[in-house]
This record gives sequence, C-alpha cells and structure tokens, in this order.
Amino acid sequence: MIPFLDMKSVYAELKPELDAAYARVMESGWFVLGKEVEAFEAEYAAFCGAKHCVGLANGLEALELVLRAWNLGAGDEVIVPSNTYIATWLAVTAVGAKVVPVEPTPGGPNIDPDRIEAALTSRTRAIMPVHLYGEPADMDTIMALAAKHGLKVIEDVAQAQGARVRGRRTGSLGDAGAHSFFPSKNIGAFGDGGAVTTDDAALAERLRVLRNYGSRVKYVNLERGYNSRLDELQAAFLRAKLPKLDAWNERRRVIAARYDDKLADIPGLGLPRVPQWAEPVWHLYVVRTNRRADLVKTLEKQGIGSLIHYPIPPHLQQAYADLGQGKGSYPLAEELADTVLSLPMGPHMPVEAVDEVAKVVRETLRT
Ligand SMILES: *Cc1c(COP(=O)(O)O)cnc(C)c1O
Repeated sequence: MIPFLDMKSVYAELKPELDAAYARVMESGWFVLGKEVEAFEAEYAAFCGAKHCVGLANGLEALELVLRAWNLGAGDEVIVPSNTYIATWLAVTAVGAKVVPVEPTPGGPNIDPDRIEAALTSRTRAIMPVHLYGEPADMDTIMALAAKHGLKVIEDVAQAQGARVRGRRTGSLGDAGAHSFFPSKNIGAFGDGGAVTTDDAALAERLRVLRNYGSRVKYVNLERGYNSRLDELQAAFLRAKLPKLDAWNERRRVIAARYDDKLADIPGLGLPRVPQWAEPVWHLYVVRTNRRADLVKTLEKQGIGSLIHYPIPPHLQQAYADLGQGKGSYPLAEELADTVLSLPMGPHMPVEAVDEVAKVVRETLRT
C-alpha cells in the first residue's frame, strides 16, 4: 500500500514540538489574533523574503482580500490561468471582477506569459499567476509585462511555499502573494489557514483591517470588513512546522528526481519539465498520458494512490456555465485535464516506494 500523501508522519516527526504548541495556546487562554499569529507572521515573512505577512483564514480569502484591498470590482478584469484550481477564479468573481483566462505553456502547467499581452484590455487591472504543482510561473516576464502596462500582480502561492525563481522565494516576487495552509499543502495547518505576503505596508495594514470586521480599534469599524483570521492554535502549529519546510521540500526534490530517473523513456508518458530558472518544491508530481484510465485502475489494484489535478478546468465547471465558455474554449487546459495524473508524493515517502510506483507505471504502459 502506497498512499497518495502520508498525512500522519508529520505528527510522528514533530510530536514534542506540536504538543508544546498546543499546550502553550491552551494555557494562554487566548485564541484569536494574539502572540502566536504575530510571531508566525514575522517568521513567515522572513522565510519568504517579504516585509509583511498577514495571517488569514484560508487561501481563497487571501486571494480575495488582496483584490478587495486594491478596490477591484465590477468592470475590472483580472488575467488568470485557464489551467488552475477553481479557487483562483473564485477569488476574482467573488469581488465582482471578470476572469480573463490565459492558456498554459504547451507542456503546462503554468500560464504562458507570451499569451498574456493579447488578453489585455483597457479594463485589465491585475494578473494572477499560479505556481501550480509547486513550479514557479515565469515571474520575470510577468512582472516586466505588468510594469509596462501598469498592472498589479498577485501570486497564488498555495502550492509553492518555499519555491524560488533565481534565488528569490515565491510570495516575494509579485505585489502580493496569497498562501494557503490547507493540511495537504507543502506547509499545512491542522485545519484551514492562509496568509498574504507583501512588501507594501499600506496593503498589509488594509488587510489587517479587512480580516477583522473592518476594524483596527475594537468596536470602531472603518469599513465593511470580514472575519478571516488565522487562529492562534493553527499559527502555533505552523510555527512548529516552518523550520522543517526547506528540508521537507528537499525530500520532495529527491522523490521527484527519482521519479524522473525511473520513469524515463516510457512511450506515451509525459514527465514534468521544469524551466532552468525555476526551483520548484514539488507539491505534486504530475505525469501525462492518454491511457490515464488504465493507469489509475492498475495503480489502484496494486494499492497505490493517485489523483487528478484537475479533471475539469474552471471554464467547464457548472459554477461558471454562465460565462458561456464551452468545450473548445481553452483547448490546452482541456487537454491537460484529460491527461494529467498525480503520482504519490510527499516529504515522508520512502524512495523505495517511488521505485515500486514506477515499476507499475512502466508495466502498465508497456502492454
Ligand atoms: C489550495 C489552493 C487554493 C485555496 O486555498 P484554501 O486554503 O483551500 O482556500 C487556491 N489556489 C490554489 C492553486 C490551491 O491549490
């Protein structure tokens, strides 16, 4: 049995630290917006190489509140990837702005910067690149485009905590970075959590107000805000995990390199190809094959977990049927949705398990 992601080993590895974090918060009697969140914000900002971090309730609201803080709404357009998790799009439509999808590079997974310029209009306000599967998007090109056209850039860092572009961390490359600490992310809470990193002090301050009912001083409300706060317990757990993040990402690199090696030269199998300038963190190891259904079935029979990220692109979801973008609107995203498969991956996966998965993949695709 090889699980898709081993969620239990983290507690085995960090039990003393996590138990101490739990006890610290329980004994403090303070559970929302306190010392743990403040300390985590400072530590995570330093980790990302950003000046500010604001802890929020989840990744979706991290994306959404940045757009609110920039006063985006009806009549504004935001460039988003056609190939992404639906949360990216939900943040844009939640503020009433229009999603303008742009296709990925030919092999995927990330937005193709060469296609962005053609999608810009006089209403475009922001670009929202996603570092999908832990692979950084082409931020150098995107930032140059944004500067040229006077646009804001918000990175969706949900799958790429710790990744780098030429030595600089994701979350410090755009005007803002939105992070998710959903349990299965590279650094996850034991529940929901999120954050925004930015060098913009005014943006950070506005987010602190927005996350707390629009209030800076208790019972004095400056604007109509939200309740979107990272809680003390989750912040304390994240503080226990953060010192391990680089080592865990390094373990993921070892697993990915082993897959690359063991899955080489299999006819009909596409492997992830990462650009030279990118230092990915392998949130997922995603292969492509036209024989996906066969492969899933065989893996399952051998007790090997696999998942599809994602089987239906946002534009074909019922949630966005009203946009009228039917099949054929974004053929590259659609082809990826039909062919991608994520193999088991995680910092606690034994290397021998990679060999076993690879053997089953090779045998299945040979016949
Ligand atoms: C997980 C994820 C989100 C949303 O994060 P939540 O914390 O679950 O709200 C956004 N974008 C991407 C690409 C994600 O993978």
